[in-house]
Amino acid sequence: HPVALKRALISVSDKTGLVDFARALASRGVEILSTGGSAAALREAGLQVVDVAEITGFPEMMDGRVKTLHPAVHGGLLALRDNEAHRAAMAEHGIAPIDLLVVNLYPFEQTVARGADHADCVENIDIGGPAMIRAAAKNHGFVSVIVDLADYDALLAEMDAQGGGTSLAFRQRLAQIAYARTAAYDAAVSTWMAEAIGEQTPRRRVFAGRLAQGLRYGENPHQRAAFYVTGEARPGVATARQWQGKELSYNNINDTDAAFELVAEFDPAEGPACAIIKHANPCGVARADTAIEAYRRAFDCDRTSAFGGIVALNRPLDGATAEEIVKIFTEVVIAPEADEDARRIFAGKKNLRLLTTGGLPDPRAGGMTFRQVAGGFLAQTRDNGHLEPAALRIVTERQPSESELADMLFAWNVAKHVKSNAIVYAKDLATVGIGAGQMSRVDSTRIGRRKSEDMAEALGLPLPLTIGAVVASDAFFPFADGIETLAEAGAKAVIHPGGSLRDDEVIAAADRLGLAMALTGQRHFRH
Ligand code: 5GP
Repeated sequence: HPVALKRALISVSDKTGLVDFARALASRGVEILSTGGSAAALREAGLQVVDVAEITGFPEMMDGRVKTLHPAVHGGLLALRDNEAHRAAMAEHGIAPIDLLVVNLYPFEQTVARGADHADCVENIDIGGPAMIRAAAKNHGFVSVIVDLADYDALLAEMDAQGGGTSLAFRQRLAQIAYARTAAYDAAVSTWMAEAIGEQTPRRRVFAGRLAQGLRYGENPHQRAAFYVTGEARPGVATARQWQGKELSYNNINDTDAAFELVAEFDPAEGPACAIIKHANPCGVARADTAIEAYRRAFDCDRTSAFGGIVALNRPLDGATAEEIVKIFTEVVIAPEADEDARRIFAGKKNLRLLTTGGLPDPRAGGMTFRQVAGGFLAQTRDNGHLEPAALRIVTERQPSESELADMLFAWNVAKHVKSNAIVYAKDLATVGIGAGQMSRVDSTRIGRRKSEDMAEALGLPLPLTIGAVVASDAFFPFADGIETLAEAGAKAVIHPGGSLRDDEVIAAADRLGLAMALTGQRHFRH
């Protein structure tokens, strides 16, 4: 089924590689039709081009909104070459077949990503491009369609292998890619609109992303993987600039995201915060007066686990902090900015990746998250729940001190980013023991305590820092035993959602053991 390519229609926004590709087509005897900007670029390079306006009999109009939307174009793409009636229609209306369509769309996703205004985004919704792509892809029995610069060379190679044409199998592959592109494109438009108007109902949403990067492998080396971006203008790992180091891996991207979303909980105006992440869980988080101090205190929560971790800062990375970070092996550092000193210091560490985002995401912003299950995926709005200090309910006889209260709020924000069951011990705005991802809450309390004891031993402290610490729990304590374990560890105050059937018993245990307890009324499961 090889079909010879005699005429091509080229209409591309991204003109990278265009001239070379068109010249290669021309040298293989392909006649080229083209739209305004593309035609101009080709002519300038000395290529012979027929304007689409010439075959439609209409000029491009309405700021380019109408260029190719005409039967002379769509008939040429859609006509079945082996159908008598179609051939007769072509003859009657003077429509010539188009065998190859080369389109890349208005850069809608990039326009949104650069924070353009509403009108600019709307103008960057391509109409004629997707219409032609869908037409050509539908008629893949006869027509080849290229929507990606990366496929230019493959097409030329195919033509050379097939005597100037393309095989059906090749055209089918191109058609499949084409529909993936138009589907993702419209999904990006819908997602952008949903955000613009605050539509949060997952049942009225469509989910797709643009391929940002093929990954070497997935969570494990035998899994294939790729990174897709949704075009949301949220500063983070998807939009970050990478200054150095090899490509991020699947696990790196996942962990870097967890790290940056966590530090974004802490308003940079209230001082530096640092989080160190392993396997998407924090092994230390701290706030301090300086970034270096925040890093050191985060590191001191669990030095063993921090090795090979991911470090996130909520403020620009400076040289002193960079100097401190490079003392151990770190996979990735992500921050809103990095100054020249910091970049110079990291430049000597070839394996360290430095990412800057230009800003912090708003932890209260909307958006969607997904989880794959067999046969489908679950969608939900982001956990953008935020605790207003005024909403806290103190339910014990003992009232927390001001510094305990500050630690409770800090630990609560950290616990939101720890896999359930999450228990976070904190003191002086630094975590001192984290229990994550256990099936029993009591086990998480024990693990957090044990980690703190191990660190006390390693650092030569007289006592583990859980003594006198506060504790945050991502969900309520179902029984009093969790409170007893915390008290044994020396904790003085605890913050949790409350709402258990046995809240009375849990509060009574806190009173009996002299703990202060605050209820948030909001849960932060994370799985
Ligand atoms: P050029 O730079 O050649 O003037 O324009 C190329 C762009 O126009 C491509 O991204 C293509 O998808 C888009 N395009 C082609 N025909 C139409 C049309 O009729 N309407 C709109 N809105 N865009 C079109």
